Amino acid sequence: MVQSSRHDIVIVGGGAAGLRAAIQAAEANPDASVALVSKVYPMRSHTVSAEGGAAAIAREDDSLELHGFDTVKGSDFLGDQDVIQYFVEDAPRELALLENWGCPWSRNDDGSVSTRAFGGMTTKRTWYATDKVGFHMLHSLFQHSMRFPNIVRYDEFFVTKLLVEDGVCQGVAALEIRTGEFHAILGRAVILATGGAGKIFPFTTNGTIKTGDGMALAYRAGVPLKDMEFVQYHPTGLPGTGILITEAARGEGGYLRNNKDERFLVEYDYGVGDKAELGPRDMVSRAIIQEFEAGRGFENRYGNYCAVDLRHLGEEHIDAKLPFVRELARTYIGVDPVHEYIPIRPVVHYMMGGVDTDITAATPLPGLYAAGEVACGSLNGANRLGSNSLTECLVFGAVAGRNAMDFARGSADGDQARLVAQAEEEAARVEALRGNGKGSEQISSLRVEMNSALEAGCGVYREQGTMAVAADATRSIRQRAADLHLKDTSKVFNTEVISALELLNMVELAEALAVSALHRKESRGAHTCRDYPTRDDQNFLYHTLAHRTEDGPRLDRKDVNLGHWEPQERKY
Ligand SMILES: Cc1cc2nc3c(=O)[nH]c(=O)nc-3n(C[C@H](O)[C@H](O)[C@H](O)COP(=O)(O)OP(=O)(O)OC[C@H]3O[C@@H](n4cnc5c(N)ncnc54)[C@H](O)[C@@H]3O)c2cc1C
Repeated sequence: MVQSSRHDIVIVGGGAAGLRAAIQAAEANPDASVALVSKVYPMRSHTVSAEGGAAAIAREDDSLELHGFDTVKGSDFLGDQDVIQYFVEDAPRELALLENWGCPWSRNDDGSVSTRAFGGMTTKRTWYATDKVGFHMLHSLFQHSMRFPNIVRYDEFFVTKLLVEDGVCQGVAALEIRTGEFHAILGRAVILATGGAGKIFPFTTNGTIKTGDGMALAYRAGVPLKDMEFVQYHPTGLPGTGILITEAARGEGGYLRNNKDERFLVEYDYGVGDKAELGPRDMVSRAIIQEFEAGRGFENRYGNYCAVDLRHLGEEHIDAKLPFVRELARTYIGVDPVHEYIPIRPVVHYMMGGVDTDITAATPLPGLYAAGEVACGSLNGANRLGSNSLTECLVFGAVAGRNAMDFARGSADGDQARLVAQAEEEAARVEALRGNGKGSEQISSLRVEMNSALEAGCGVYREQGTMAVAADATRSIRQRAADLHLKDTSKVFNTEVISALELLNMVELAEALAVSALHRKESRGAHTCRDYPTRDDQNFLYHTLAHRTEDGPRLDRKDVNLGHWEPQERKY
């Protein structure tokens, strides 16, 4: 028996983007009911783990033009310039607003907002609250959201399907994890704010919950995934766990070192001179891999690694600006950065690609919006600049909240019986999975195979041959995932079912990613193909769209919105 409830809009995701959207929608229309559905308690969303900061101009030596151009250049000219323009203009207002809601931005002695340097940015533009930015941002948003009685929360509800009737998205089907019961949560518009999909790779900074559910929900509902080939590696994750050592460690003056004790980045010509560590993430990650290949990496049981050296910054500075980095290094690898090197390697960090949206956060499916890491607007193009994405969640979370509410105001409630019938069908599909005792494929082994296929074929450096293998492998893994074997028959907190649903989502994305990557015969931003080492604007200055079909993704293209920043060689 499916339970049903009605709201004006439904938001899936309780991270920065989802909460910001909810506040915007609830504030705009106090009489409207806003459902906020999240598979974890909102404060456990991945946003909480962001460390480094959020970008917006604050200093006199900075300008909207500079923030805009840095972002366009960082994107390797694949970012949509109308989106970028809107973003840089709205960013300072959003960060100030967040402070009104309680976010304690670190300040200079004269009371001005303190900013730090991040890779690929011309000046210090990253606002921070020590190195626990995500925690403070999410806490302020969550706390503020509780002021609105018209935000109705569904915590620990796992959304498994978008309910689409008459070509309009009108709600979601969700599994209540605590009871195992199904719900039809209906609204006249839906916003996806479900975050990224780093867990499709084996080494990642991403939390366990980042399985790209929202991307798969939209993909199955016929919405294309855009630019899935662009995956950001962060140069400094801990080997083994992938735990992030924030870019702020380099922004505050840390060095990267190889096994010869050299500050090797100085040798890589980005044009950033003695600020070699402040190159953008894609370039620094490639440099580290080249050091490994030249035999200049350290080695331990997890393979090669390089080191972050903070020793010259001194204990006082480290404790004042990077206390969390010290805490993480001590706790997870028993290293005190005041005296020792922190081992690091490039790890998957962020998906530039995602659900195809435009500047209004709308997807091509009427009634469906998306914001935050799940969406591809495209602010980040082929490579995201560090600290732009937290701000993106705020700016485009608000846009999505506003526009979804407007859409809902202008439309009538859908046919409840038909929507609930769809949710009943969905409940039956999931029920058939639970403890099925049939099937020959194990969730864990398929997951490992998927992880390995992507790491081998679609890592920092890619080749046509290895990408083709990854595309074949991910297709076969997706097909085999239809035959999963589950043992746990219980309804209450059945985590095996959740893992199965997450895997079924991830295998769709893995294939879309590999196929999109294989088709792009050039190197741009985070997509570095050894067979085609240069950027090819003549043939590839467009967004890739992947449409789902039973036989695998069908690729299409979408124009990039160019503006007054003409494509040029990306040099630092
Ligand atoms: C370790 C780390 C550090 C980072 N540091 C920075 C930084 O310093 N600066 C910066 O700009 N960016 C940083 N990023 C990136 C940035 O934090 C993320 O892109 C951003 O927080 C994503 O927010 P979001 O709201 O889109 O999604 P998330 O915060 O990931 O939230 C997703 C929400 O969706 C819900 N959800 C997902 N699937 C379902 C489902 N099936 N059903 C119901 N609910 C669902 C989850 O419960 C969750 O509430 C960092 C990322 C990581 C991993």
